Amino acid sequence: MDEELGELAGDVLIEDGLILDIAESIPTGGADIVELDGAVVMPGLIDSHIHLWQSAIRGLAAQCWGREYFGLVHPLSGRVRVTDMYASTYGGAIELLQSGTTTVFDFCHATNSAEHAEASLRALDESGIRGLFGFCFRHRPEAPIEGFTTLEERFDVLSRLVDQWSGHERVGLGVALNNIDHVSPEVHAQEVAAARRLGLRQSLHSNLPGQVTLSAKMGLLGDDLNWVHAGPIDDDEIGMLAEQGGSIAFTPEVEAALMGVAPRVGVAHRRGVPVSIGTDVPSALNGSLITQLRIARAVTRAVDMQQERAQNRPGTRTPTHPSFDTMDLLRMATIDGARVLGLEDRIGSVTPGKRADLLVIETAPFGLAAGRADDFVVYQASARNLTRVYVDGRLVVRDGVHVTADLREVRTRLDETRDWVLGRAADSEWPVIDDEMRARYEAGQGKAS
Ligand SMILES: [Zn+2]
Repeated sequence: MDEELGELAGDVLIEDGLILDIAESIPTGGADIVELDGAVVMPGLIDSHIHLWQSAIRGLAAQCWGREYFGLVHPLSGRVRVTDMYASTYGGAIELLQSGTTTVFDFCHATNSAEHAEASLRALDESGIRGLFGFCFRHRPEAPIEGFTTLEERFDVLSRLVDQWSGHERVGLGVALNNIDHVSPEVHAQEVAAARRLGLRQSLHSNLPGQVTLSAKMGLLGDDLNWVHAGPIDDDEIGMLAEQGGSIAFTPEVEAALMGVAPRVGVAHRRGVPVSIGTDVPSALNGSLITQLRIARAVTRAVDMQQERAQNRPGTRTPTHPSFDTMDLLRMATIDGARVLGLEDRIGSVTPGKRADLLVIETAPFGLAAGRADDFVVYQASARNLTRVYVDGRLVVRDGVHVTADLREVRTRLDETRDWVLGRAADSEWPVIDDEMRARYEAGQGKAS
């Protein structure tokens, strides 16, 4: 994924977490040798949009359609305790690592107290993943564990946590903004200003038309703001992002299979707007970005073909060049994801001087056969092929399994959290999530106050 190096067969030298050299042959010196013999080495994948607090309720939203997810899953964020944040974030991060994701933006809806944020940061750190915890400004009046009464209190805690984690090599903070349609434009502007004072990356769900225009009118667009889904974005707004800054987080399976949104990312990509990729909802899907890349290919090609049909060009002719070819897809999950998170100087490609976040993808039994390495990774590899995952030069996954996590204990903690959050545990009946609350969340995702 390094533009200058391209693809080469050879050696990678790592020292103190850093990629020191890449060449056809590097003298071994006193180095430990890892013989990979024909495997593909590539940068670790970057998930720019996921809600790890949902990891313990895997499957709950699998049958959801449209806005049902908001009514079924989002009210549960008020039930999440500190211990649940740790269990879900840690379990989710382990799954991501085992799927080849080495960096994550964890967009939280459940930052119910300072201790909740601390638990998530600790879980990300202890899992060995690299990532930004997306501290949320969302206030839930019905939350049983509500550590904040004002937005200013949230800003203060965020500021303290940024100081506390500023020197950390792998883990830091970002901001999970409230939807623009959930707060007043003034509050939205305050949130963005608070994030910018601290120099943090921000992420924002956008499911309604006109929001990029509103943000542009308020002078708030910028490269530090990642628009999630942005399905209703129009051509003028794509132009605004291209000129004034901003990127898109594409979550292909959620958008196509849960929400029913036709993505505009093909047009955005052609106009130079960075597009990153995410798995989004652990309550419905697994954490494999390679699966998402395959779905991204199918969905974006279907949209390309539909556009050609709409222009009255018959479907039998060969479609023009797709919006995303294989390398574009891989960039979406590596270097473009790094750019969106402001980490492109440190990760996103196998480049001397960058941190050693690497995947080793075994090609046996076929080898690359008649194909190319990029095609192999996106279309033919599966989790079985992922033999080694390194983060910051440390081996974190070997033969598909996390090297330090006690997976049995992880499972026990996830089960306990699931039972509490779903109200199955004897002492977890509060708050009552009734039809009225569900309907309210479905209509407006539980408006922030
Ligand atoms: Zn989301």
